[in-house]
Amino acid sequence: MKFHSIFLLVVVAMIVNCTSKNDQTTNTKKVDKAKPEYAIVIHGGAGTIIRADMTPEKEAAYISALNAALDAGEGVLKSGGSSLDAVEATIHIMEESPLFNAGKGAVFTHDGRNELDASIMNGKDQKAGAVGGVSTIKSPISAARAVMEKSEHVLLTGRGAEQFAKENALEIVDPSYFFTEFRWQALQKALEEEREGLEVTKDKKKGTVGCVALDKNGNIAAGTSTGGMTNKRWNRFGDAPIIGAGTFADNATCGVSCTGHGEYFIRYTVARDIAAMMEYGGKSLEEAAEYIINKKLVEKGGEGGMVALDAKGNIVMKFNSQGMYRGFALPDRREVKIFKD
Ligand code: ASP
Repeated sequence: MKFHSIFLLVVVAMIVNCTSKNDQTTNTKKVDKAKPEYAIVIHGGAGTIIRADMTPEKEAAYISALNAALDAGEGVLKSGGSSLDAVEATIHIMEESPLFNAGKGAVFTHDGRNELDASIMNGKDQKAGAVGGVSTIKSPISAARAVMEKSEHVLLTGRGAEQFAKENALEIVDPSYFFTEFRWQALQKALEEEREGLEVTKDKKKGTVGCVALDKNGNIAAGTSTGGMTNKRWNRFGDAPIIGAGTFADNATCGVSCTGHGEYFIRYTVARDIAAMMEYGGKSLEEAAEYIINKKLVEKGGEGGMVALDAKGNIVMKFNSQGMYRGFALPDRREVKIFKD
């Protein structure tokens, strides 16, 4: 009797084990099956973005610009193009839109100039390129890509970066191309607050743009482009041109593009930390991003957000500010949002 019970137990255990193995296989298959052909996620900056400040016209303009940016990137991915091409095409649209703090529409420095930063990274081989403090390159994201592909360096800055862009036949514009009245007024306000010794408006940024894409070959790329922070001086760079801070991509983990108070994102190597939690800590993208943005950064006082995706096409869009211009596109789904709710 006793022997029979033990025998029965062993048989039951074998069946359970076998079933659970099958389940695992099925689950793995399920995950693979759910993996989209391509995925793309974008942001257009995080900050104090609230309904009370938004007219219906302004909101519609942002929604349509975000959709246009997604259209550009999704078009590339749908036709089998690379994630790098998709990121560049998407960011071009946002750099050319005066609505965003990147390319045309960039914020002004203390001296009344526009100094632009951008970076791009390829998740396949971890190659990366970036430019900082440029004032005459029409598309900083294209310059960042040229640094990655046509030089042996990662980050070029100022006049040297502009010289490099010229030599590589990138479009050069007069600095006045980047002028917008709205950003000029924002600088005047910041200067006045400073002169009067008033509390400086906290939200001196908003509108940095970024994109992360996953292509049909399973490659991830991430890019970020910005004018930085209003009233910045002394050739200050934020996180956008710093690989590991504002931008990171690795096919083994994820691609990330950040926006927010750059100094914090540099100090806490935000983009890389999210990937590192996945790489060394076995966390999911969702868990890693939630921890870094909504716990660690909040505790440290760093306001901002990020978008990211992993090789399975999981997408996250996290921010600890009041809003973030954002959106994503998958073959069967698209979402574009601005506010928290
Ligand atoms: N992160 C950018 C910077 O600090 C600004 C922003 O994203 O709003 O330059």
